[in-house]
Amino acid sequence: MKSCDVLIVGGGPAGSSCARALRAGGLDVIVMDRKEFPRKKVCAGWITPEVFQSLHIDVQDYARGRVCQPIDGFRVGLLGRKQLHTAYGFVVSYGILRCEFDDYLLQRSGARLQLGEEFKSVSKHGQRFRVNDTIDAGLVIGAGGHFCPIARHLGAKKGKESFVTAQEIEVEMTPEQARSCKIEAQVPELFVCHDLLGYGWCFRKGDHLNIGFGRQDRKGTSELTQELFRFLKSSGRIPEDTSGTFHGHAYILYGRTKRELLGDGMMLIGDAAGLAYPESGEGIRTGIESGLLAAETVLAAKGDFSRARLEPYVERLISRYGKLQTYPPSGVPAAIHRALMRSKWYSRHVLLDWLILHRHQPALVSALARAEAPTSQRARSVA
Ligand SMILES: Cc1cc2nc3c(=O)[nH]c(=O)nc-3n(C[C@H](O)[C@H](O)[C@H](O)COP(=O)(O)OP(=O)(O)OC[C@H]3O[C@@H](n4cnc5c(N)ncnc54)[C@H](O)[C@@H]3O)c2cc1C
Repeated sequence: MKSCDVLIVGGGPAGSSCARALRAGGLDVIVMDRKEFPRKKVCAGWITPEVFQSLHIDVQDYARGRVCQPIDGFRVGLLGRKQLHTAYGFVVSYGILRCEFDDYLLQRSGARLQLGEEFKSVSKHGQRFRVNDTIDAGLVIGAGGHFCPIARHLGAKKGKESFVTAQEIEVEMTPEQARSCKIEAQVPELFVCHDLLGYGWCFRKGDHLNIGFGRQDRKGTSELTQELFRFLKSSGRIPEDTSGTFHGHAYILYGRTKRELLGDGMMLIGDAAGLAYPESGEGIRTGIESGLLAAETVLAAKGDFSRARLEPYVERLISRYGKLQTYPPSGVPAAIHRALMRSKWYSRHVLLDWLILHRHQPALVSALARAEAPTSQRARSVA
């Protein structure tokens, strides 16, 4: 039987970031994942610079030998209508491959790794848990994504929640395809649904192409994805012979779930907690941030993992992300937003800065970040 202070179930960005912060605080951590890493994950793979900042990752360092596509502009428009080009003139986002990014985060977490093992069971023995009858832990953190078994243990019921579905294809182009592809690598293209309940994307990361669609109400996600794929080919934006299998996944947007995030000796982070930004569906950043906030709470609890001692985690999440948010905001008819989308100002400042990039929200400065930040950054964050 292995023993640890904290067992994290799920080695995605949420689990590995939490593990690193707990290790920095001196705890013994095991991360269990049913997959061997590097593993594939259905995702467009764009992250903002704030993600690297909150984890103190040097982007140049990360980019060595990995795909890390800088993005300095977007083309955005309603599906089937003219797109507006916003050029920032500086990097506002990066495109990564999840198989590389997730593996990098997990390996640098410093945790003991239990990969290729699926969570099967948990039982309580005094104040401690026994997982799969092989690991003994004082605290169990659920970071297993939307279908996280720890979320189910805390009462989440399949089919009783409103979730988003998104589909995508990610292919590596041949040199010939890369030459004929009209999508600019620095400038992803976004195609917003007329009812504003979803959007599609075409995103080039070096020689990789990622095309997909996500909708809040799940209606017609696969038809829309196929329609976009056909349009991109027929308009000559992507090579006619681009092919591959589309994969889909479900997850919950922040404010749309009643999942219990805590129990005595248990917590949920990332998609397991249903935290993706409601307007954009971006969940890597919120997964990482929730992992850091959970770790901060655990370290402050000083070994007492009762629900009451873990409650500040939920308060930290609310103070970071606020109360329930919706898009489009109720009270403003969708027709007004559609009309506004013809304006360059609205496209840049509302759709991109506010809803897609969350540029108003600075990088999270957690206890880990404060401990690991170079002195110059520490001075800035204190100021
Ligand atoms: C099509 C699509 C496109 C997206 N594009 C973006 C994007 O561009 N940018 C962005 O920020 N977000 C995007 N997202 C959302 C993003 O992928 C998720 O929010 C993010 O992966 C959440 O991270 P996580 O660590 O919580 O969970 P995951 O990354 O899902 O990791 C969970 C881990 O738990 C493991 N696991 C699950 N069950 C078990 C079990 N029973 N036992 C052991 N291990 C288990 C899994 O193998 C997995 O490794 C997209 C989502 C989709 C579907």
